[in-house]
Amino acid sequence: MKLLVAKFGGTSIGDGARIKKAAKSVVNEYMKGNQIVVVVSAVNKTTDELITLSDQAIGTSLTDKQKANIISMGEMTSIRLFSAAVESLGVKSAFIDPYNEIWPVITDDNSLEAKIDFKSTNKKVEGIQDLLNQGIIPVVCGFLGQGPAGEVTTLGRGGSDVTAFLLGHCLDADEVIIVTDVDGVMSTNPNKIEGAEKLDEISVEEMRDLATHGAQVLHPHALKYKDSRIKAKIISFEKGDLEEPGTAITGPSEGQDLKYASLYPNPIAQFSLVGCGMLKQSGLLGLVTTVLGDADINILGISAGQNSITAFIDKKDAEKAYPLLHDCVIENDFLSSLSLSKDVAMIFLVDPDFVDTPGIISDITGPLRENNINIIEIASSQTAVVVYVDWTDGKNTHALLKELF
Ligand code: ADP
Ligand code: ASP
Ligand code: MG
Repeated sequence: MKLLVAKFGGTSIGDGARIKKAAKSVVNEYMKGNQIVVVVSAVNKTTDELITLSDQAIGTSLTDKQKANIISMGEMTSIRLFSAAVESLGVKSAFIDPYNEIWPVITDDNSLEAKIDFKSTNKKVEGIQDLLNQGIIPVVCGFLGQGPAGEVTTLGRGGSDVTAFLLGHCLDADEVIIVTDVDGVMSTNPNKIEGAEKLDEISVEEMRDLATHGAQVLHPHALKYKDSRIKAKIISFEKGDLEEPGTAITGPSEGQDLKYASLYPNPIAQFSLVGCGMLKQSGLLGLVTTVLGDADINILGISAGQNSITAFIDKKDAEKAYPLLHDCVIENDFLSSLSLSKDVAMIFLVDPDFVDTPGIISDITGPLRENNINIIEIASSQTAVVVYVDWTDGKNTHALLKELF
């Protein structure tokens, strides 16, 4: 017997026929002897419609609390529809909303972007497990939470994915299945470019980066709750079969936390190519990467300024890289000089929450300033920050930054 969590997005339950098909797919798994928890979004674009309606009717005086209450009606309705559809197929089901005694998802009091209280949720999930043990199919509102005063909160747009993975984690489920309107995770958004291809699998790390960079197919916070024991996949609603392979989300790899600070083990050589008006020069990055790439030299990081471009490479490659980059400077008029600075250490900080944590850079630089450590370069993306310091400060910097997690 397996414990499954299946989440149905808006399109997947977009009309009566689809709700029926989705309910059948759930009952099918139940009949095979599995336990299954259903998480549903609002039907179709209901959430958008409720937002438009309240904007038109109330406008700017609408409070966040009122808004959360109004939009929660989308999921409040869909759980009732879905649960009744399951019962019509002869299986017992219960719908669970935030007003229910056994409602599991507990949050802070932020009405629209509520933060999950993991400890309380992990405890309250017992109620859902009890239903499963009685052979009942629980249908839970995605996207919604319950704040400290018992009020309805929401987890932010697209938050049903978070609900599914959160419940999967707390229930120690075997698999989380995200049912949506595309075949799985594709090579790009299939609604934007023709010819997008389905991936058979994607790692948690890649999926997380894809999601934080805007691929709507999964909410970026959902994977926080994916550990290596839980299987996960994204499948299409079309076939009405929860055994569809879709795209499997694999990992995270053993010992690889979603949040970590790591120190690159070797000293790094830092080459800077200097020239005038470099930012206006097309093909410059290509020039440097090709020269190093052709010589099989891996570039660990690169940064570009108005008048310089810096490449960070493992010190063991420095001797080989030096004459090649120098030839580049000699051959190209827009480059004037090349410098090799002293050894640096590279510290990576990875955290999916960076993208929506204000002040993260000062959290990183603060402890270094207090310890008199000079930052040579800093680079950041939505989920990672890379800090370069003098090699002799590397270990100390790593230890200080590890404490941020
Ligand atoms: P649901 O309502 O099921 O949660 P969403 O609309 O939130 O569905 O997410 C699915 C959508 O994600 C797809 O319809 C597609 O437009 C979009 N999308 C963006 N990038 C990708 C991608 N790389 N692979 C698949 N879908 C993507
Ligand atoms: N119904 C909510 C929304 O449209 C949550 C979700 O679909 O995941 O944002
Ligand atoms: Mg979604």
